[in-house]
Amino acid sequence: MSDDTQKDKLRQHFARRVTTQARVVLDTWQKIQASPETAAAWQTDFHTALDKLVRYARRFDMEKHAAAGQRLTEQLAQWPTGAAMPALLQPQIQDTLDELSRSTLRRTDQDLAEPPRTYRRTPVYIALSNSEMANRLIKQLEFFGFRAAAFESPEPLLAACAMHKPETILIDVGFGGAPTKGLETVEQLQKRHETSIPVIFMSDEDGSIETRLRASRCGGEEYFYPAVDPGQLIEKIEAYTHGNTVEPYRVLVLDDSRAQAKFMETVLKKAGMKAHIITDPMQIIHALEQFSPEIIILDMYMPGCTGMEIARVIRQQDRFHSVPIIYLSAEDDVGKQLHAMSLGGDDFLTKPIDPKHLVATLHNRGRRARSLLALMIRDSLTGLYNHTHTLHLLEQEIVKARQKQRPLCYAMLDIDYFKKVNDTYGHPIGDRVLRSLSMFLKQRLRKTDHIGRYGGEEFAIIFPGTRESDARAVLNDIRERFSQLNQPAGDREFNVTFSCGIASWDNESAQVLCERADRALYRAKGEGRNCVLSAQD
Ligand code: GH3
Ligand code: MG
Ligand code: MG
Repeated sequence: MSDDTQKDKLRQHFARRVTTQARVVLDTWQKIQASPETAAAWQTDFHTALDKLVRYARRFDMEKHAAAGQRLTEQLAQWPTGAAMPALLQPQIQDTLDELSRSTLRRTDQDLAEPPRTYRRTPVYIALSNSEMANRLIKQLEFFGFRAAAFESPEPLLAACAMHKPETILIDVGFGGAPTKGLETVEQLQKRHETSIPVIFMSDEDGSIETRLRASRCGGEEYFYPAVDPGQLIEKIEAYTHGNTVEPYRVLVLDDSRAQAKFMETVLKKAGMKAHIITDPMQIIHALEQFSPEIIILDMYMPGCTGMEIARVIRQQDRFHSVPIIYLSAEDDVGKQLHAMSLGGDDFLTKPIDPKHLVATLHNRGRRARSLLALMIRDSLTGLYNHTHTLHLLEQEIVKARQKQRPLCYAMLDIDYFKKVNDTYGHPIGDRVLRSLSMFLKQRLRKTDHIGRYGGEEFAIIFPGTRESDARAVLNDIRERFSQLNQPAGDREFNVTFSCGIASWDNESAQVLCERADRALYRAKGEGRNCVLSAQD
């Protein structure tokens, strides 16, 4: 063996020790994240793991690892021993860890032709036997702002999952050669995680009930047999990656006992919900308006009035007609409980409350309330706000803009020559284009912007607190990128553009503002389409 190859081998050997140590650091962090209550117990382990990482990385000249390790050590110094982690520290540490895991990830992740844009934190892993299809998919996913990586065999996939838990995995049942090798790989890797990773399985060969069952048992959320095209896959991937960004439930608690209210607040916050606590029943109207709860918990017996009376008052307001109300009481007389429910309550919990029971009840109620609400305010094809709700939001935002003296923009988008898309490729493909534009907008716009489907192939966007020049720049960027997105239709691909009209709020009514944006849109159509024009232009 020549000197050089020997050195190279040694270098690789040491590099592995550094990456193994990086994995220990990442694992320890996952344990800290998994349970805030026991986080402090892992503090020392985290310190030790970091020390080792920095020492190894320095010794073996792995600068990126050393730098990330050093930064983490400094960040960790801000966490007092044995105490809860300061809230602001968590995202900082997460950022540095992301950096660390990026330096440790496989090459495919860094070799991507285009530099990352506003990528999501966690990646999507793709394990398909057809590497051409995998690469096409990665390109498409990047357009939607996903960070995706492809693998050529099970081992590197397992290694990458251990390093960085992905948001979703897309895998062939037979990935890796043998007929169910992909399935076995997933079974193996799910065992290492406490909560399973959502997996989308595909197979061209095996649609049997046995294999489907096995797939479903190891976290298979979808099973495509025969395999489907990239367009459908991206929609599914989007569906599973959105699960992680569910907004916390807003829960209002009214209990005259301060101790009980505090206890509830702690339980709810630990469960990741937003809690607003009041102890005076007379504050209820104010709290409803300010906090706009999705679920309400009422104590049954309070001085001055009962929970049932408060429930009736709440129900008298249209907006809170269907908000779930849960009563809390030491009352275990079933007759009285039933009576309380008949007066507008949805559930009855008896004190002392088991936190697990409470959280489960809230999740069930919250999920159901949201899906009912979604039926009322969202468009079923795209999940965006419907016409009526978009206008309602615009009116609300105008009130806020007036109060806070801040700018507001409104934009209308219309897909160009959409009729031709339907005529050439069929209505279902047309629908897919509508969904792809809606996903695109959701990914690219801020959470505070409101996106609505205004009608057929028309969309509306409300930009609170935004100047026209900024909204315009964002829309132009979206327009440009969307036009580059390849829309798959069987073996063919095509591109779609949209035109856009934008208007900046000028102390006018919602209706006038809409009309101005609409006129700008029609001028944009007239000027050749695929452009953004302002009412000012
Ligand atoms: P322009 O560039 O002038 O906007 O041309 P266009 O073809 O996009 O506009 P036009 O208003 O003539 O046609 C809109 C088409 O959108 C007609 C209608 O069939 C189609 N459309 C409306 N809603 C849906 C839908 O939900 N799904 C599908 N696939 N097509 C829809
Ligand atoms: Mg159109
Ligand atoms: Mg139209």
